[in-house]
Amino acid sequence: MKAKKGRSEKEKIRDFLDAHDVWTEYVAVKNVIDMARITGGRVHICHVSHPMSAQLVKEAIYEGLPVTAETCPHYLGYTEEFVLEKGAPAKCTPPMRKKEDMEKLWDYVLDGTLSCIGSDHSPAADEEKDNQTKDIWSAWGGLNAIQYFLPMMFDLVVHKKQLSPTLIAKVMDYNPAKIFGLYGKKGAFELGFDGDVVIVDPEKPWICDQKKLFTKGHVSCFEGESGKGSPICTIIRGKVVAENGRYKEEAFGHGIFVSPVKFQ
Ligand SMILES: [Zn+2]
Repeated sequence: MKAKKGRSEKEKIRDFLDAHDVWTEYVAVKNVIDMARITGGRVHICHVSHPMSAQLVKEAIYEGLPVTAETCPHYLGYTEEFVLEKGAPAKCTPPMRKKEDMEKLWDYVLDGTLSCIGSDHSPAADEEKDNQTKDIWSAWGGLNAIQYFLPMMFDLVVHKKQLSPTLIAKVMDYNPAKIFGLYGKKGAFELGFDGDVVIVDPEKPWICDQKKLFTKGHVSCFEGESGKGSPICTIIRGKVVAENGRYKEEAFGHGIFVSPVKFQ
């Protein structure tokens, strides 16, 4: 869709939100589910942002189709008002939805329909995300999201929703590992699995400071957002790679490609 001429910044953001209305997502999800039904092919639907498309996934699962789905923290904690306020830095697709839709989306996380939560980390250079250089139509679509992924989810799940932190382990680790065939190496704290552990201080406060992002860009719509629950020690394959918000220099290059063990 082409942006209309002579629109104010706020109107352009409104246009962007309207152009990515829930029906665009609904039709896409429905098409993919129909293809899964016809072909028997397995599908994993990413970034489900709205209860209407989550309901399609739920019905597909009830039907016995090989369909799984993921949502992201920004659909569970942020709304279109946030996009209207922040502009280009908050551009992602699908966009954040209305408050009542955001609240309803939680039901589908809790009943297991949306069995995975991903960061949808999409690193962009500053000039691609800045309100000064890009309007919402020409800005990069995606958020510098990974660094505050766990702190944000911890705050949402444990402090705001008063739910068990085991939900986080389930949707960010166990379920994705099962779905992507990594269970056996990843997804549980078991004998024979990789020694991957994140220790979280549940009360340690965090504030998003975009200047301190380790990723490519330093423009974050979450600048100034705060909560409680911070990782204090991260261990990958038995080795401490980060502690108290700092990477260990000697851990650079420690990452390896993780190939599937077997698909479930
Ligand atoms: Zn994405």
